[in-house]
Amino acid sequence: MLLKRLVKCPRCGGDSVYDLSNAYRPFCGERCKNIDLGAWSSESFRLPDQPPTDGSYDEPDLLPQ
Ligand SMILES: [Zn+2]
Repeated sequence: MLLKRLVKCPRCGGDSVYDLSNAYRPFCGERCKNIDLGAWSSESFRLPDQPPTDGSYDEPDLLPQ
């Protein structure tokens, strides 16, 4: 019962563990989160209000264990 939910990192598009163990969720790590905050401060980047509805968002992949 240790399945973890994965989401796409909104910064790099890679796998991100959406779990309490990931303090940087929904980003994959500190680096992506910091990059995103930097983009916000420069006002050159805007996140959509809603997550992408490409069909895969509701079916998170599971970590191979
Ligand atoms: Zn990332």
